[in-house]
Amino acid sequence: VEDWRDGEDWGKIPAADASDEHPMEREFHAWLASRLPASARVRVGVGDDAAILRWLEAQDVVVTTDAVTDQVDFRLPEIEPRQAGHKALGVNLSDLAAMAATPVAALVSLVLPRAGAGSRSAFDLAVELYEGMLPLAERFNLDIVGGDTNSWDGPLVISVTVIGRTTARGPLRRRGARVGDALLVTGSLGGSILGRHLQVTPRVVEALRLHENYELHAGIDISDGLALDASRLAEASGCGAALRLGSIPISPDAERLAASTGRTPVEHALGDGEDFELLFAAPREAAEAMVRDQSLGVSITKIGVVVERPGLWQFTDEDELHPLEPSGYEH
Ligand SMILES: [Mg+2]
Repeated sequence: VEDWRDGEDWGKIPAADASDEHPMEREFHAWLASRLPASARVRVGVGDDAAILRWLEAQDVVVTTDAVTDQVDFRLPEIEPRQAGHKALGVNLSDLAAMAATPVAALVSLVLPRAGAGSRSAFDLAVELYEGMLPLAERFNLDIVGGDTNSWDGPLVISVTVIGRTTARGPLRRRGARVGDALLVTGSLGGSILGRHLQVTPRVVEALRLHENYELHAGIDISDGLALDASRLAEASGCGAALRLGSIPISPDAERLAASTGRTPVEHALGDGEDFELLFAAPREAAEAMVRDQSLGVSITKIGVVVERPGLWQFTDEDELHPLEPSGYEH
């Protein structure tokens, strides 16, 4: 954090008057204050009315939010609460990765089922959710600086807002792909419902490394399905996306799932979503170098090209464009 502006040490701000807080909330805040690591760029963290972050004037703030809900994004009785916490933060970090932004801070709001979950009290549930988030926060040098904790008679809701900063290369956006660009993806796709949708590995480091070392024109993270997210990138860029289905890297999970669904592995790779891999557009020469680059820590596969004709397409065996359904998860 040596590039953070020096300032006087504001010291540790004592917790705000907490007399109107619910006892559980007070106890939870005390636990949280002791559990969160100290950070040079957080001038005021949990305990005041708002957090204060050190910032450099040259950086743009990148901010995104996403909520996950029991019975929609996971089934709490079937998983460890830590996995839900991990997912809630992971999906937000994936959106920062898609923008090629460096993570800085997160705000976490928990709406807990009043009765807790299973044999866990609401307090224990909150602690477990954080224990799922904190390793991910540490891994990506992110400070959790505040949020809110409520309880109600409904299911668990975890709402996370993450704040990042642009690098000297600026942000990566969905718009910017050019006709003739290669379309590339990280990792492999499909069948995330078999478990990977909980074990989100946001491609933050990979995105920053790619953005720093190569010319990238546009990017998006694959949250709702390759086909749908590719069509979004193409639409934002004012062009079309043509995929070579035989080139799409298929996850072993997609193969396993296909054995019981009657759909093909490639259909799962196109439409399942929650892969949290990156899809990006880059000039052809850069694309070839990336595919060969062993230092990125993840495989990069060329799966298609950006074309002039708007829409989503697949190449036929005769190299003609045939319409492709933008299958995926529509919210
Ligand atoms: Mg996204």
